Amino acid sequence: MSSCLFCRIVAGEIPSKRVYEDDELVAFEDINPQAPMHVLVVPRTHLATLNDLSGDHDPLVGSMVRRAAAIAADRGYAAGGFRTVFNCNADAGQTVFHVHLHVLGGRRLSWPPG
Ligand code: 5GP
Ligand code: ZN
Repeated sequence: MSSCLFCRIVAGEIPSKRVYEDDELVAFEDINPQAPMHVLVVPRTHLATLNDLSGDHDPLVGSMVRRAAAIAADRGYAAGGFRTVFNCNADAGQTVFHVHLHVLGGRRLSWPPG
């Protein structure tokens, strides 16, 4: 998907501050951080929204969630807490249509979300 922003970041066509990568995932700093830690974990493969997931993607999603927890732990937020968020479609505020997991931490986060 040459027109997809996160596909282009994954391909290295658009610069990002990468914090982790492997053969299925890339993680990078959000350009507009909402907390002291705000990392996005994205699959290398293009999937627009959570609605596009099938059972075949279960290992991928598991890897994304475990990587989010590992990044938070590396930064010292495991015990204090952190938040992971998948926004799906307009009512959730999704703006980039390539599945991504937000990993937020380093400040007290309120609930319910806005
Ligand atoms: P969404 O609203 O779709 O759940 O989240 C998209 C996220 O992507 C937002 O937090 C936004 O700040 C981030 N973002 C948008 N464009 C870029 C970019 O070019 N580089 C990076 N690193 N993050 C981006
Ligand atoms: Zn994409």
